[in-house]
Amino acid sequence: MKQKLKQLAATLKAEFQVYKRVLAHPKTPLAAKALLWLALAYLVMPFDLIPDFIPVIGQLDELIIIPGLVYLALRLIPSWVVEECRAQLKKETCMTDFQKLIDGYRRFHDNYFVTDEQQLFAELSQGQKPSTLVIACSDSRVDPAIVLDCKPGDLFVVRNVANLVPPYEQGGGYHGVSAALEFGVSALEVQHIIVLGHRQCGGIKALFEGIPEGMDGEFIKPWVGMAKRAADRVNAEHGHETADDKLCACEMAAIVVSLENLQTFPFIRTRIEQGLIKLHGWYFDIINGEMKAYNADQLKFETLV
Ligand SMILES: [Zn+2]
Repeated sequence: MKQKLKQLAATLKAEFQVYKRVLAHPKTPLAAKALLWLALAYLVMPFDLIPDFIPVIGQLDELIIIPGLVYLALRLIPSWVVEECRAQLKKETCMTDFQKLIDGYRRFHDNYFVTDEQQLFAELSQGQKPSTLVIACSDSRVDPAIVLDCKPGDLFVVRNVANLVPPYEQGGGYHGVSAALEFGVSALEVQHIIVLGHRQCGGIKALFEGIPEGMDGEFIKPWVGMAKRAADRVNAEHGHETADDKLCACEMAAIVVSLENLQTFPFIRTRIEQGLIKLHGWYFDIINGEMKAYNADQLKFETLV
């Protein structure tokens, strides 16, 4: 509920920015501008257009008059003006967001690279020796280095839609995840592999509920389809639960599928048998901040932190 209210507030704020531009647009009819200004004036300093002695309506006139004025104004504004303002604002926001990255790199360079962590980067320039390989989702909210509070050089990271590991396959091909596993395990000799899943995963939602209408491209469906047995297990074992609980269960079941698939790689299986490598399935709950870990003996996820 709180989340939905926040989303609504963000949408209203964005719409307010759009209509601020619409007000200033040269092709917005003067009558519409006047009505919008009147609505704003009425909001800021309510004056009695409907006398208070008229029952109910007189008391609630702000609730009737402001939306009424806005509605009339919107009817007068050509839709292309609104769309032009919306597109312009989006373009400017993208430019601002991109500029943030350039400014961010400048801060990283000045405050981190050449000062606080100069020694660390001098060592890392000689090579990397991370102890842990993480398979995480591409989701912008679950950057493993941030979530696990790590420094450069700590983690060897593979990120993809829904943090999935495909099964071992022989032969050539564009096996990005398998190539990263091979390098991380055979060359870097990591001692831990963490499959880091998360709540509200769009990839797992696409697997469990299907691709949203209008989003069905070429690649997501077959990619997430590799974890179909996670969805099948949830439908078989959690069929009576709520849609949200089933989705969470599927996110966790997909981590287990990736752990199973990791063991199909001969160079990983051998190292597990030799005690040189350990597999971990972790689940980050982005809503309550909890981290769960898979207990392979109990076949369930337990709170880690
Ligand atoms: Zn995800």
